[in-house]
Amino acid sequence: MIYCRDCGARHSDKAKACPKCGYVEYDLTKSTVIYLLLLWFIGLIGAHRFYAGKTGSAIVMLILTCTIVGMLITCVWWLIDLIYAICNLGHPENIFAKK
Ligand SMILES: [Zn+2]
Repeated sequence: MIYCRDCGARHSDKAKACPKCGYVEYDLTKSTVIYLLLLWFIGLIGAHRFYAGKTGSAIVMLILTCTIVGMLITCVWWLIDLIYAICNLGHPENIFAKK
């Protein structure tokens, strides 16, 4: 059990969001600015996804980029991640939400 950082209610640490107020738990040590910088410069190898703790999809992205055909997919994927990151610059809970 953990305490909600927003309203203080006790809830399961397995819950994605607080059942009382809807607050989404996320890693406070992570920064959306660093996420965006990693995405912008080395995003094609999944660097930003490794940073956000999404290791599974980060490895998929890394392997895809190593292949010519896969890189076409990661280019589109990268663009989607970029738009998402820019839209959520002020909402780290959407990017770093615990699974
Ligand atoms: Zn709450």
